[in-house]
Amino acid sequence: MIAKLKEVFAAPLPCKICSAEAALFGVVDFAKHCNEARRGRLPLLGRPVYYHRCQACGFLFTDAFDDWSEANFKADIYNDGYIEVDPDYREVRPTNSAKLVQHFFGARKAELRLLDYGGGDGLLSATLRAGGFLEA
Ligand SMILES: [Zn+2]
Repeated sequence: MIAKLKEVFAAPLPCKICSAEAALFGVVDFAKHCNEARRGRLPLLGRPVYYHRCQACGFLFTDAFDDWSEANFKADIYNDGYIEVDPDYREVRPTNSAKLVQHFFGARKAELRLLDYGGGDGLLSATLRAGGFLEA
């Protein structure tokens, strides 16, 4: 049983980044995952997740999970089955992302503050911290 998703309204929402108007953009089933090309699709659950797109900055987001607790995310998304649909989640992606950040911004790391938004288990942040980057 998936935790309750936030009720959907057709009215635009304020963008979570810049607060500009973000119109309703599209919908996917809760079973949609980021690795369908490699892992295939999961059976549909009949739980729609609506997305909004910011008219100003283009950020695409949902508010469906805004009321969820950390426990909800751990139970319904980042559970024992998550690694099956996103095998790069725990190590490969955060490690490669840390290398990319180091490559492009390492020379100026003392001047920067980083925010790891949606950082999973925190490996990217931990790796960057260990490399001398400071968090926001
Ligand atoms: Zn925006």
